Amino acid sequence: MAYKITDACISCGACAADCPVSAITEGDGQYVIDADTCIDCGNCAETCPVGAPVEA
Ligand code: SF4
Ligand code: SF4
Repeated sequence: MAYKITDACISCGACAADCPVSAITEGDGQYVIDADTCIDCGNCAETCPVGAPVEA
């Protein structure tokens, strides 16, 4: 399992700074999670102001 970022993302960047394995990068219009790197810790979902990261 991994988290994914929905299109609710406003590209604030807060989640990327909180990811312990640097799985989150800035994509085209929203941030994206590398599912192979994500360790399912949930930090991004807790940090995000708009609830964009969800369990895939
Ligand atoms: Fe990074 Fe954790 Fe979010 Fe996965 S769940 S992208 S490891 S912060
Ligand atoms: Fe997007 Fe939320 Fe990450 Fe900000 S914290 S870049 S809104 S997913």
